[in-house]
Amino acid sequence: MSPAAGRTEPAVPVLVVGAGPVGLAAALALRAQGLPVTLLEADPADRVRPGSRALFVHHDSLRTLDAASPGLAARLIENGLLWHTKRTFYRGRQVYARTYPPPRPGELPRFTSLRQVETERHLLAACAAAGVRIHWGARVVGVTPDPHGVRLDAADGRRWRAAYVVAADGARSAVRQTVGIDWQGRRAEGFHVVVDIADPGPGAEPAERVFHYRHPALGGRNVMRVPFAGGFQVDLQCAPDDDPAEFAEPSAVPRWLPRVVHPRHAEAVLWVSRYRYLQVVAESLVDARRRVLLVGEAAHLFPPFGARGMNSGFADGAAAAVAVRAALEAADPASARSAVEDFDRVRRMAAHFNSAAAGQALAHMRPTSAGLVLRQRAAAVLAPWVPRFGTWLERAPYGPRTAPPSNRTGRY
Ligand SMILES: Cc1cc2nc3c(=O)[nH]c(=O)nc-3n(C[C@H](O)[C@H](O)[C@H](O)COP(=O)(O)OP(=O)(O)OC[C@H]3O[C@@H](n4cnc5c(N)ncnc54)[C@H](O)[C@@H]3O)c2cc1C
Repeated sequence: MSPAAGRTEPAVPVLVVGAGPVGLAAALALRAQGLPVTLLEADPADRVRPGSRALFVHHDSLRTLDAASPGLAARLIENGLLWHTKRTFYRGRQVYARTYPPPRPGELPRFTSLRQVETERHLLAACAAAGVRIHWGARVVGVTPDPHGVRLDAADGRRWRAAYVVAADGARSAVRQTVGIDWQGRRAEGFHVVVDIADPGPGAEPAERVFHYRHPALGGRNVMRVPFAGGFQVDLQCAPDDDPAEFAEPSAVPRWLPRVVHPRHAEAVLWVSRYRYLQVVAESLVDARRRVLLVGEAAHLFPPFGARGMNSGFADGAAAAVAVRAALEAADPASARSAVEDFDRVRRMAAHFNSAAAGQALAHMRPTSAGLVLRQRAAAVLAPWVPRFGTWLERAPYGPRTAPPSNRTGRY
């Protein structure tokens, strides 16, 4: 037991659990609401977070983050990559290509693309500048809400107390499980393999996003190539009955990668990861006492199409900060509960919307009906003459573009 065991830190208005991108963004949003913020993170301060993971920081997120920490959007944009060209192929034949104009001076771009670890580095620096107090090596194992607040117990015996807790402790959220909130949803069949490749310099693959339906060199599997600052990601969508050893093991990657990118890239692999899709939303985003607010992957998991995971987590964090401040300033307990319940209603509606949108995209990518397969094939044949068919093939893998009904000013 550490010397800190049994020590209770002074009570604070709000604690954030988890220093992933969403917890860091929520901490910034809370600081922007004028609240002192303490953040508890299980990992040590010198942790190394792997891989590219969530690459896209979308326009709405840049706006949200910049509102919480002015200048942050500019740093993410400077350190990210904005590629301008998208191409879509069907069985090796191009069916869509579009090059977008660069943003006008002073205008936020549609997105910036950088490795999640880089986004986190900039968020962490912004948190330090904003005075967020971070306790590293603080793994929360106990959560005890009561009518006046929440007690958090760490694995090493330390204790904290706060009026409200914003839980951003990721997909396996101990906070969510401890307060007894379950997932609702399902797991999709099959898996994806993500390979990060370092930028090999001049003569490299052009900085374009390229999506292949039914790549002929890979037995008709879908493949996406997405550039980011410093390299690019190759995302291979495997079939439900594929053997992970054949595609997802690092030793297997050099066997298939040269069939979809220049063979020299097989020498520059940085990271390989396999992931399965979960499409789940917490049955409630707040606990029964209305003291704990779940955000990011602690609250929902979506298939990655449309890059809704991290981006919607930023919107959750901003909404949680507004709700916590309103609850702290409420004239009576009923108004405080109502502020927290508003957060639950609005962000759970958004989560279900995002889940359905990502699910729609997943169904398009893995058509199970002969009708949809035929529609896609017919669209690919007609695309050179009727551009809207190519546009449909390009856009459908991201799901609908509209915003949740609760959030008409933003996308998530
Ligand atoms: C292979 C892969 C590819 C992905 N690709 C994409 C993509 O292309 N697009 C996209 O949008 N998203 C993608 N994602 C998802 C994206 O990475 C997540 O949406 C994002 O990390 C969620 O952020 P978060 O802050 O909610 O959770 P996390 O990043 O999981 O952060 C949770 C934090 O909480 C800490 N923690 C956990 N338990 C405790 C505890 N008990 N006490 C204290 N701290 C705790 C963890 O150490 C961690 O720092 C991908 C994920 C993976 C794994």
